[in-house]
Amino acid sequence: MAAITLNAPKLFDLGGRVALVTGAGSGIGQRIAMGLAQCGADIALVDRRTDDGLAATAEFIAGTGRRSLQVVADVTSAEALVAAVERTERELGPLSLAVNAAGIANACPAEAMAESQFQTMMDINLKGVFLSCQAEARAMLRNGRGSIVNIASMSGVIVNRGLMQSHYNASKAAVIHMSKSMAMEWVGRGVRVNTISPGYTATPMNTRPEMVHQTKLFEEQTPMQRMATVDEMVGPAIFLLSDAASFMTGVDLLVDGGFCCW
Ligand code: NAP
Repeated sequence: MAAITLNAPKLFDLGGRVALVTGAGSGIGQRIAMGLAQCGADIALVDRRTDDGLAATAEFIAGTGRRSLQVVADVTSAEALVAAVERTERELGPLSLAVNAAGIANACPAEAMAESQFQTMMDINLKGVFLSCQAEARAMLRNGRGSIVNIASMSGVIVNRGLMQSHYNASKAAVIHMSKSMAMEWVGRGVRVNTISPGYTATPMNTRPEMVHQTKLFEEQTPMQRMATVDEMVGPAIFLLSDAASFMTGVDLLVDGGFCCW
């Protein structure tokens, strides 16, 4: 029998890798950035927020012994994203991992929605992910390897009962299919693209006081009878980014407490 070279724990090791995470100042993106650092990656933290969100992420990462840099940028700007990738490579090294989590959510009945509300949703949740992938993949294709995870939503797969968010749902369905399309464009050149589709997750997006009634419904409607914690998005992200998922590309990984089974 040929020598067995399997080293299962090493599959999840991100040591020496450089990652860029958008939406790293809050919620899911923030916690995933922290988790990637714990697995050994240095991280560029991108967010439009100028409060202490990015600094808090950076402080946590410093505690892991890894390096990070904070980039205040809007993902609707191609120039800002190109500059973020350039700075990342200059200060941290060749980019090979990315998580695109920046996004917004809001609701409005379709028949009453202003065109501008629809457009802003598409600009951030869809075009923002496209431009992020484009800037990241240019570097990864040049570097000969890369893995990108886009944060979509189960709302790109099912329609949330009672939530009037046709623009959000459409943006997330588009992110899933766009990611599969990019995965196929880059499949022969060392760059993988996958999505994570979270179910209801306890983040600032969902834990505002005015959401209390809604949150109770989210919990009741989820087969596991609760929302996900942000920690529960970290393992799936590490998995898809790492060599543990080296034969996976174009996959949408539902992390939804069973929601889409019902
Ligand atoms: P969050 O806590 O609001 O974090 C999102 C971060 O992205 C915020 O810091 C936000 O800044 C930033 N952002 C928004 N627009 C941006 C832009 N144009 N440029 C740069 N940064 C921008 O939300 P979250 O719940 O963690 O959501 C993260 C991702 O998961 C989103 O794509 C969301 O759709 C998806 N998701 C969330 C849930 C859930 O239940 N929470 C479920 C499924 C999918 P601002 O605060 O200034 O907007």
